[in-house]
Amino acid sequence: DADMAFHSEVVVSKLLERGHEAYWVGGCVRDELMGRPVHDMDITTSALPEEVETVFERTVPTGIKHGTVTVLCGSYAYEVTTYRVEGAYENHRRPAEVEFVSDLKEDLKRRDFTINAIARAVDGTIVDPFGGTMDLSKGLVRCVGNARTRFQEDALRMVRCIRFASVFGFGIAYRTWRAMLEEREGIRYIAMERFRVELEKLMDGSRPYRGLLLLHRSGLLKDAKIPFTYEPDRDLISMIDEISPEDAIIRWAMLLYACGLSAEGAHNSLRSWTFANILREQIAGLLSIGEAVGAMSTDIPYQEQWVSVVLQHGRETAERWLFMAGYITRRNPGVYPPEILKNGHTWTREMEIYHLSELSVTGKDLMDLSGRRGGPWVGEILGILLVKVASRILPNDREILIDEVKRVINT
Ligand code: ATP
Ligand code: MG
Repeated sequence: DADMAFHSEVVVSKLLERGHEAYWVGGCVRDELMGRPVHDMDITTSALPEEVETVFERTVPTGIKHGTVTVLCGSYAYEVTTYRVEGAYENHRRPAEVEFVSDLKEDLKRRDFTINAIARAVDGTIVDPFGGTMDLSKGLVRCVGNARTRFQEDALRMVRCIRFASVFGFGIAYRTWRAMLEEREGIRYIAMERFRVELEKLMDGSRPYRGLLLLHRSGLLKDAKIPFTYEPDRDLISMIDEISPEDAIIRWAMLLYACGLSAEGAHNSLRSWTFANILREQIAGLLSIGEAVGAMSTDIPYQEQWVSVVLQHGRETAERWLFMAGYITRRNPGVYPPEILKNGHTWTREMEIYHLSELSVTGKDLMDLSGRRGGPWVGEILGILLVKVASRILPNDREILIDEVKRVINT
């Protein structure tokens, strides 16, 4: 936004006033040139980290060793990084050691792709020694320098390459793609977190399908030991593009479902991909609902069975699942009872209560009525009553529920 841009200009100008060089660089310059929204404005400078710290009042030593100081200006935070080159690479990972340099071009040269190696000066001048603007206009992701070497240095770049191609709808330069096929085994050295961050960005893009196909085709998923154990269902995966990026949870669940994973398998995969617990529960929860609905019995009213699914997984997840099931049944009609798809929303909306605490009878009532001591049976009976009341088979009326309890206890 304009305010973020304004404050970043203050930061650049202050560095210039102190006699240092300073430019915007990387993602923000690229996104600006593409007319895409800019989310963070990174700055590169000839000033050493200690010098940056003396120029600004509010700084955070984010990655001093790597030359990065976070400068706080207005309500914004900017990463200001000293021109640097990277030391020797080990094991296909980015090195711990960096070396500061005095030349902007050297700094641009260590960046991954030409479209990410463009700098912009405060007067609007573009510094673009590797043809990044040309590649932007052609719509190409191309490594800076020799692609094989760049992928050997840091194998994550291969995933980033596909991520950018997917998010921007770009092609991949021929040699860059060839190099990826040759170097793909290096991906096994990359920490899963770094891989997952790129995957999430790919899945948050407007059309992840192509990116997923590229990942599959490149062999990177296999070499990363990402447990796509089955040949995925491409028609289902292609539907992910139709689901809004805001529904990332549904997108992920669709992907895992399309790869033939069970709820448990999805849970394990998401854990090994280092997903946050809440997100993992939400995604795997959708697959559990699918399994529960797929296994529903014709002997019990569907409404009752659906309501117990909602009670177990929560209303939000249940509603999300209905949305997802709409896509799945377009591809595979008949996997779920049509009654659920047709009435699930209504049944969910009409639920009167959600918690045992809302029932007009309590565990104590049950114990008094039966003369038995507390135990798991109390929860079981309350659970049955909750489902019956929530699905409107019984009213939440104390007298009626007590009669029902007597009936259940006596049978
Ligand atoms: P976005 O933030 O939109 O995901 P970005 O290009 O800003 O895209 P970042 O991960 O924020 O990506 O990195 C900022 C810049 O740092 C990149 O534009 C690139 O110049 C450089 N960079 C990041 N990761 C690497 C890497 N693995 N190898 C080389 N350069 C990199
Ligand atoms: Mg960025």
